[in-house]
Amino acid sequence: MRAYYQSTRQNAVHINAKQAILQGICEDGGLFVWPELAKTQLDLEKICQMDYQQIANTIFNLMLSGYEQDEIADCVQNAYTRSFERTKPDTITPLETVGDVEVLELFRGPTSAFKDVALSILPWFLSKALKDSDKKALILTATSGDTGKAAMSGFEDVAQTGICVFYPDGKVSDVQYRQMATQTGQNVRVFGVEGNFDDAQSMVKQLFLDEQLKQKLAKENIVLSSANSINIGRLIPQIVYYFDAYRQLVNKQQIKIGDEVSFSVPTGNFGDVLAGYYANLLGLPVKKFYVASNANNVLTDFLNTGTYDRRRPFIQTISPSMDILISSNLERLLYYASNQDCQKVAGWMEQLAKEGFYTLDDQTKEMIQNKFEGGYYDDDQLKTTIAKVYQETGYVLDPHSAAAYALAKDKKGQEPIIALATASPYKFTQDVLAALGGQEADAWCAMKTLSTMNVDPIPAKLKALQQAPIRHRQVVSPKGMKEVVEQSALEIFA
Ligand SMILES: *Cc1c(COP(=O)(O)O)cnc(C)c1O
Repeated sequence: MRAYYQSTRQNAVHINAKQAILQGICEDGGLFVWPELAKTQLDLEKICQMDYQQIANTIFNLMLSGYEQDEIADCVQNAYTRSFERTKPDTITPLETVGDVEVLELFRGPTSAFKDVALSILPWFLSKALKDSDKKALILTATSGDTGKAAMSGFEDVAQTGICVFYPDGKVSDVQYRQMATQTGQNVRVFGVEGNFDDAQSMVKQLFLDEQLKQKLAKENIVLSSANSINIGRLIPQIVYYFDAYRQLVNKQQIKIGDEVSFSVPTGNFGDVLAGYYANLLGLPVKKFYVASNANNVLTDFLNTGTYDRRRPFIQTISPSMDILISSNLERLLYYASNQDCQKVAGWMEQLAKEGFYTLDDQTKEMIQNKFEGGYYDDDQLKTTIAKVYQETGYVLDPHSAAAYALAKDKKGQEPIIALATASPYKFTQDVLAALGGQEADAWCAMKTLSTMNVDPIPAKLKALQQAPIRHRQVVSPKGMKEVVEQSALEIFA
């Protein structure tokens, strides 16, 4: 059986994964899902004999219809062989015991954030899909700091692709600015935008709908594309580390094959934790998924009450990648939890767009509450967690991972619990150092001081940033973005 994909909002169109990755989102606004996902069960005995890359190949060969086996092997090889720091030989996502919680480190990639796991491989999937045509894809991304860098790093010099990233000028951290402004690659362009993230984001959305721009680029065989987290090419790679974490626990002899475990996941757009649910549907024995949030607690309320209500203030926190009021990937959970009732899903999504909220029926709510439980922590609680875990274990958490750790502690039952760590503490050095009682004038001094407390050294790529040459200096107004996109497209694909 080859996997096929359809919209969460109607049963009509069926396409393969290669096409779904190119297309990104369904024309009806829904997200691509594989209706028969839960009918396939992976063989845990076999999985537990594999290394990370073999598990990745197994899952991709099952789910990525349209790709040849050797194409997939090539993508896995390109993405995961060199660019991840390896603290253990057989995985890029090592599991560390920290107190009575297992911490799954997802931040050993090129930009020190968990988005690297997916954004290192998506460009290769895209590139293989483009090879069948003579088309070229220009990725447009607005970023508040983290996604843009991980995307650029992934797309750097990948054939038939180019990328333009826009960040709010003066509104990203020192480290984030340096990470972006020093990015190498012939096919990469980065621009500061006058204004805030929303200004940059709104203009990117407009550019995707700009017919004139579309036609102009089409003459050169260029299509605009996005690398955002609703693409199945970003979601599916994240399933791998849930199985790999389980394998590591088996190998550590903490569980036997078949035993249940739970996961605690720092959540924003619901992509990471949804990938865990997909792993569960594919046969991974999971008791509960704990959905950790910061002061933006829309998901905690949703899981408690069955009502999703985005009509609340947006709060800026020290865990910015979880500052979100609409969790897009939740739509896929609704699809599976409602017994694949597209009409219901479409109705909820329409109500959310129009009125800012929706309420689940009792049956769907119960399905979700059986598997998912939420919890949230404000900045002070996150800092306290960072300090406490450091005092008790010597392990340094970043603010996002701290939310997952805190929730894992609060919910810990009989079964082993795995907290996902999504960023290196060195990426949020000043807040982490402050939590530990320190203070430095800038991020670079803070990094150095933190490295005297943390047994884990500063990631080489972050350390090198301070000296790396600045390659991108241009700042544009939102109105000027269209022109630099056109220009960049012509230059990159000349
Ligand atoms: C993106 C991100 C998250 C949230 O992941 P989702 O898939 O959006 O739920 C959590 N932590 C960090 C560091 C991130 O970059």
